[in-house]
Amino acid sequence: MQIRRLLHLIFALMFRVRGGMAMAFTLSRGGNNVPAEVQRWQYFLLRRGISQVGRVDADFGSKSEEATRIFQLQQQLPTHGKVDSATLNAASQYGYTILDSGYYAARSGAGWPAPPGDLSSPGSAWRNTKFSCFRFVQKQNAYRDRPERIVIKGSCDGAAADWTQANIVDLNSSLFSHADGYRGYFRVHREARDALDALLHQWQSDDLLHLVISFAGAFDPRYIFGHNPGNAAQPELKSTDASKLSNHAFGSAFDINATWNWIGDVPAFCGRKGSVRELVASANAAGFYWGGHFGGGRVDGMHFELAR
Ligand SMILES: [Zn+2]
Repeated sequence: MQIRRLLHLIFALMFRVRGGMAMAFTLSRGGNNVPAEVQRWQYFLLRRGISQVGRVDADFGSKSEEATRIFQLQQQLPTHGKVDSATLNAASQYGYTILDSGYYAARSGAGWPAPPGDLSSPGSAWRNTKFSCFRFVQKQNAYRDRPERIVIKGSCDGAAADWTQANIVDLNSSLFSHADGYRGYFRVHREARDALDALLHQWQSDDLLHLVISFAGAFDPRYIFGHNPGNAAQPELKSTDASKLSNHAFGSAFDINATWNWIGDVPAFCGRKGSVRELVASANAAGFYWGGHFGGGRVDGMHFELAR
């Protein structure tokens, strides 16, 4: 009985060590690194205060190697600069998530994640009801900083002389502070502020913030790209009269990781640099629709918009 238990224990230990070494994503300079796992590691080192790692950029270069050595020195591990299983285990004591090696294979391809069954991209009527109608003009093209730019005036009901001042607020958050282009706050509609704040904290508790590597803005008064009515100055309209205004004009949308999820392109696959696909489930649960699920050939993988 004793021998059987001992053998069982030895077998279990051997299996665990072998399995552990084979299954985790190890990283090294020049190694076969999964880009999203490099991002996870770089973000972890930044959060540990090891700023030598530089930016979260999915590239395990000399800075990542040096920062890894610093972490290993702190943990009294051999300072070879490779993220091996001993280094991963040390990191896991500080909350680092160690994934199964099948994680990305189970989330591959353009069809993952599937569109939500209970959420759709909001239409113009819904936005005007939820975020309120505004009056706007469009200047002659020479006076716009981009062809789609509009100039928002007052609210349609006359209650606010300046719709933007009455409705657009700053959400200050440090959770994107590692992302390129982020200045410490989101400019969003006051009706979207709390939902966005909740989503950012959800992504933090999901341990997914390493996926956010650049920020491309929120409130942006404009038509949808490519739907500018023309070059001439446009007379004043109400937002209820224009069906092609962007969600950004209402302050209910934001864009991240634009470079890897350009409008019209297939969004970066899960595990690749700049992929946002893992962020979608929590976004949907928080009421945000992902532009990667837009139909009609208008895929927009950088884009998230409040839809509930
Ligand atoms: Zn967008």
